[in-house]
Amino acid sequence: MSTENDCKKQEEYSVDTKCQLNDARLKDIWGAVSYPIYQTATFAHKGLGESTGFDYTRMQNPTRQQLEAVVALLENGKDAIAFASGMAAVAAVMELFSPGDHFIIDSDLYGGSVRLFNEISKKNGLTYTTAYLSSEDVVPLIQENTRAVYLETPTNPMMNVTDIEELAKKVHERGLILIVDNTFLSPYYQNPLDLGADIVLHSGTKFLGGHHDTIGGFAVVKDEEIDERLRFIYKTTGAGLSPFDSWLILRGIRTLSVRLNKAQENAFAIAEYLQKNKHVTKVIYPGLKEHPGYDIMKKQASGFGAMLTFEVDSAEFAKEILANVELIYFAESLGGTETLITYPITQTHADVPKDVLEKNGINDRILRLSVGIEGTEDLINEFERVLETAEKNTTR
Ligand SMILES: *Cc1c(COP(=O)(O)O)cnc(C)c1O
Repeated sequence: MSTENDCKKQEEYSVDTKCQLNDARLKDIWGAVSYPIYQTATFAHKGLGESTGFDYTRMQNPTRQQLEAVVALLENGKDAIAFASGMAAVAAVMELFSPGDHFIIDSDLYGGSVRLFNEISKKNGLTYTTAYLSSEDVVPLIQENTRAVYLETPTNPMMNVTDIEELAKKVHERGLILIVDNTFLSPYYQNPLDLGADIVLHSGTKFLGGHHDTIGGFAVVKDEEIDERLRFIYKTTGAGLSPFDSWLILRGIRTLSVRLNKAQENAFAIAEYLQKNKHVTKVIYPGLKEHPGYDIMKKQASGFGAMLTFEVDSAEFAKEILANVELIYFAESLGGTETLITYPITQTHADVPKDVLEKNGINDRILRLSVGIEGTEDLINEFERVLETAEKNTTR
């Protein structure tokens, strides 16, 4: 390959994001199957007024652009923007609004998002109303200054399921936008943009990254105007994902379907196993037919995911489970190869006001599982041992 050809090729691939998405996927100019990590802060110009399309990594970086193109494809978006964390993506989206704007959020959301809305959005002059969007009608809550509706489905950790398509219709009729945090199901199982959402958010730390080894986040959009404003916020505030972390998430996405198929299979097995235990008072998994959101899940998602919440008969029993796990990690976060168990009331949801926790049914007997891809039998054996130990230690 001559140098001249290489430059031409480089030019072909150094197009802006929109062209890139039309190309569906960037390819490395040397044919590398694993897309390279462009670990550089800046890019040289060939001449005055000439750019390869890359100037400075805060604004664009080939590795990050590759990842963004892949995530946009997965979510059927026009563009995806990769942020340094899920929270950085949520924070950037909130910058779309102005002081005086109002939005409506679901009552059961990721604790970090609630903290952002309370401690930062409020200070910036935004107000919000909460509602159980899975069951309450959003229309009476819409005010003159309402701009957006924000939700997760299924919710964290209580697994409430909202009909995205139905909500999107109501929201659009009144000129608002719909923002859906799709972290729990990942684009493999659910594509909210196809159901009418305007912005899809992800914590890339979770199923997309998939290995509990990096932090990242995404905002995926289909509207050009929203995209332009978000790209402006992103390059100005500088919360873009680093090249190395972009590469790790690209690597994670390669096995997204294989991991989720296995994790979901394990989640079903664990749900069935837990239901048979007399100390388990409730198993909340949207793949169970008795789950109130089961039919909506069937309609709007292609799977039920790997998140499972269960309630035991005493706080003491819950604490015994946490004290005795060996294969399973007692850790926050979700969506990775290893199964994690967490205690929402003191961990992920510690910053959620007490009355809200109570209303949501999050008590000191609730445990949340992010099911991993271990051998199904190994996980069942782990639960058998842990539950027996917990029973022994609580009935003494
Ligand atoms: C983890 C998480 C976030 C925040 O993402 P980070 O990558 O931790 O910043 C937002 N929403 C949901 C549903 C999450 O699980």
